[in-house]
Amino acid sequence: MIKQNMHIHSNYSWDSKMDIDTIAKILVENNISYGALTDHVELDREPLPYVITKLKIRNVDIDRINQQYQGKLTLLKAVEISEPHWYPDQVEKLSQEVELDFIMGSVHSIPKDIESKYGREDATYQYYREILEMIRADQIDVVGHLDYINRYYEKDYSFFRQVTDVLDAIKEHNMIIEINTSAERRCHLNVFPSLDKICRYRFRQNEIIIGTDAHTPNELTDHLEQAEVITNELGLKPVIYQKRKRINL
Ligand SMILES: [Zn+2]
Ligand SMILES: [Zn+2]
Repeated sequence: MIKQNMHIHSNYSWDSKMDIDTIAKILVENNISYGALTDHVELDREPLPYVITKLKIRNVDIDRINQQYQGKLTLLKAVEISEPHWYPDQVEKLSQEVELDFIMGSVHSIPKDIESKYGREDATYQYYREILEMIRADQIDVVGHLDYINRYYEKDYSFFRQVTDVLDAIKEHNMIIEINTSAERRCHLNVFPSLDKICRYRFRQNEIIIGTDAHTPNELTDHLEQAEVITNELGLKPVIYQKRKRINL
């Protein structure tokens, strides 16, 4: 299997200090042929013109690296947008102005108000409702770290039926999920989403991407072998993207 890490935050993300040269060097050292920079886009705190300018500069940097490591490494131009369905016009403009290989949409906001008032089951229900709305807004290619709410909870409070709706919607909107290995370092799961949800996803479709959600050099290879085992055992197919089109390796 060709190795990939499709979820990497460079210093173009607010919470990472990794420069692109360091990322490229470590990926090549570990025989990882495809990496994706999925830098954060947080439209609630970053003005859109700033985001666009920043990503255009980053993309020039990526072109330079791809030239330098030709034949060994391809870096993809991607973003991880938080709650993209809250900002449909801005997401549209971003996708027109900046060359992107794929857009990952992630729900990061956890409904703390609902949790404190009604409990974790209700908060989880609201979390999945947001995910469903994000998918239905139809502006993204990949659903990022499904199940992320389990980062904060000691067990999975999701409703079976609601997960069915989410998995159906992903397929219906021609999207895929990522297998995100950061769960192992963040919570009680081995990967995001949980293995039972990956099995249910596999029943519907088999294409995925694999990522570690790296923010530091040591996270660039974090539990990748584990995701590869899951991928092989379940007959999943890792893909890459080019200009918003899915490509089989
Ligand atoms: Zn995220
Ligand atoms: Zn991330």
